[in-house]
Amino acid sequence: MSDTAGVAEAEQLVAEATGEGAESGDGPRFTLELNQDQKDIREWVHGFAEGVVRPAAEEWDEREETPWPVIQEAAKIGLYGFEALGQFWADETGLTLPIANEELFWGDAGIGMAIMGTSLAVAAIFGQGTPEQMAEWIPQCFGTADDPKVASFCSSEPDAGSDVSAIRTTAKYDEATDEWILNGQKAWATNGGIADIHVVIASVDRELRSRGHAAFVIPPGTKGCEQGAKVKKHGLRASHTADVHLDDCRIPGACLLGGKEKLDERLARVREGKRSKSQAAMQTFEASRPTVGAQALGIARAAYEYSLGYAKERQQFGRAIIENQAIAFALADMKLEIDAARLLVWRAAWMGRSGQKFENAEGSMSKLKAGEVAVWATERAIQILGGNGYTREFPVERMHRDSKIYTIFEGTSEIQRLVISRAISGVHIQ
Ligand SMILES: Cc1cc2nc3c(=O)[nH]c(=O)nc-3n(C[C@H](O)[C@H](O)[C@H](O)COP(=O)(O)OP(=O)(O)OC[C@H]3O[C@@H](n4cnc5c(N)ncnc54)[C@H](O)[C@@H]3O)c2cc1C
Repeated sequence: MSDTAGVAEAEQLVAEATGEGAESGDGPRFTLELNQDQKDIREWVHGFAEGVVRPAAEEWDEREETPWPVIQEAAKIGLYGFEALGQFWADETGLTLPIANEELFWGDAGIGMAIMGTSLAVAAIFGQGTPEQMAEWIPQCFGTADDPKVASFCSSEPDAGSDVSAIRTTAKYDEATDEWILNGQKAWATNGGIADIHVVIASVDRELRSRGHAAFVIPPGTKGCEQGAKVKKHGLRASHTADVHLDDCRIPGACLLGGKEKLDERLARVREGKRSKSQAAMQTFEASRPTVGAQALGIARAAYEYSLGYAKERQQFGRAIIENQAIAFALADMKLEIDAARLLVWRAAWMGRSGQKFENAEGSMSKLKAGEVAVWATERAIQILGGNGYTREFPVERMHRDSKIYTIFEGTSEIQRLVISRAISGVHIQ
């Protein structure tokens, strides 16, 4: 072989190894190395979480109130607003959104939810609204940098939690006035009653169960949309949760997300016995679950880091407690489980953003694993801190309380297992 041939062969090998010259249409190449934009955003959110969120965490947990000054700070630096969400979403690898969530919730989960709770309503408008509805309502969900607002997504009801098809809130169309009239009671709504914009899921035809549901925007100040009881919670106490009462609540016809024509077409299809788009809705849930998993990861990592530092400092029997294998191995397991959960979160986030089909409910897997790791790791952290871990003087107690919601909301762990087991088996497991 001549020298030139050798060089050409080597160049070919390098090109193959690095993917250079790959045909276009292959999509973004797989790598676990974050690009500069991702690193910059991670550093930016981490800085805010460390400098602003964490110092405020204990106060707002104790007050059990929405931390408006922190939301205002976030809005001022551009971290709270539709531009920031758009920037996180724009990343074609899908990783920026979970990375930003992990960092923010590392700071504090209650405040993190006070900041990120709005995105549930935004996601519904983004997923179901027309371009005109998105342009009108999404900016209003956030308000402005000087006067930030929050939004609320109201699906759950006292008798419709895991079983969303049992929703009783009704929406009736009044042709004479081109208005929708909503009646019912929503439960557990994050930002319920304090939000400017409420996105409400209601039934337009109860016989069709979940296939008769539609999403409506309730504009600010609408009569008949009132906050009910505020919920006193175990954790996530800086995030406001309340019932929302809808009592002859009249909204313009244009507040039906997606529009009436599309709804009528869909209902006609369902009534004729044709397939509904529930498959598409499932894919949407799968795509949003890694973001929730990333929030749980932030809490788990915070508890791991705190207990690692503590174990190196705390002396018993004349040595640091980390010198005992029992403690060191617990920390090793925590690190292992957190990193494993992150890989599931990143995989599902990448799949969602690059349009992959979730054949095995990979989104549910990521949320299930991260949620359960967060509960387990924060409990381990309390154990490592001993009596101090059990007190409100040390943050791991709060982290443990905050973590528990991640096995309950956005689909309980049991429901995630149901989704995964149906996906892998093709059997309609009950
Ligand atoms: C802090 C907080 C914030 C929330 N924010 C919102 C919000 O912003 N918007 C909103 O719409 N909702 C919100 N929720 C509601 C949340 O989504 C529901 O609590 C959740 O879906 C579970 O419903 P549930 O509480 O009625 O429990 P249930 O559905 O009554 O479940 C009780 C238990 O039974 C199990 N179970 C139920 N069905 C099955 C089954 N088929 N197989 C096996 N096990 C089953 C569940 O896994 C669970 O362990 C929030 C809840 C909380 C606590």
